[in-house]
Amino acid sequence: MTTTYAIPLRTRFRGIEVRQGMLWQGPAGWAEWSPFLDYSGPELRPWLAAAREAAELGFPAPVRATVPVNVTIPILPPEQARQLAADSGCRTAKIKVADPREDFAADLARIEAVRDGLGPGGRLRVDVNGAWDVDTAERHLRVLTKYDLEYAEQPVGTVEELAELRRRLLRAGVSVPIAADESIRRAEDPQRVKELAAADVAVLKVQPLGGVRRCLELAEDLGLPVVVSSALETSVGLAAGVALAAALPELPYACGLNTGALLTDDVVARPLRAVDGQIAVGPVEVDQAALQRCRADAATHQWWLRRREETAG
Ligand SMILES: [Mg+2]
Repeated sequence: MTTTYAIPLRTRFRGIEVRQGMLWQGPAGWAEWSPFLDYSGPELRPWLAAAREAAELGFPAPVRATVPVNVTIPILPPEQARQLAADSGCRTAKIKVADPREDFAADLARIEAVRDGLGPGGRLRVDVNGAWDVDTAERHLRVLTKYDLEYAEQPVGTVEELAELRRRLLRAGVSVPIAADESIRRAEDPQRVKELAAADVAVLKVQPLGGVRRCLELAEDLGLPVVVSSALETSVGLAAGVALAAALPELPYACGLNTGALLTDDVVARPLRAVDGQIAVGPVEVDQAALQRCRADAATHQWWLRRREETAG
């Protein structure tokens, strides 16, 4: 049986207020298929391949029992940012910067506050979501070297710009590693990142890239450290991300998989949430009462059934 869920988000994210997707159980376990509503056509196929892998094959054997995750700090005033970092239990914070309504001084104040909130030994990274141009990124990252960042995520918009920025930073001796996130969305993107030497770290998401096994192949092929992130899924989809992170031979960075709390509800009895900055690896158990609670209306369900049929071809 297939269920379509519709779960409101706690705060608007990516312009989305209600997250939707399908869930079904196969011989190997539960699958989530939840491509964002603005995706269409062939783009949807890897997402479906990922769901089928979960339902029909299950996941490769893990090489670790827990996966470290980061706390994500949205665009917040310093005091709230500090508190969020301090309360998270995580040792790593990903700080959103470059909001169009703020200036760089506000970003610096937030970064300072989060560093303070994590305390000694805490690790910081910034996520720019492609908002800077190459000149601005070079200027700002020079300033940010003092925070000893793990990396700057998608400081500029395109893979060509990432490559240009990375060359400039290397030439100037500015040692901030660059992570590609938005530049890796489709299965062919990692190859491009590799060809242009555009990043030091790759952010991989299971659904858009076609499943856990496919991501493991991509990671091997890329030869870069990988950070596994979610596509804002329920615990069923998050479990696939955790399975990937658990199966990677090396996992030098905390992953972006602690996003379950961004949804107001979940479909499992024990939602996947970090405890002391770690998520436990293992299958999730869908709870029938929770599934009922999160069910989309009949028209939405019909829309998703048609969408899946068209994608399966
Ligand atoms: Mg990002």
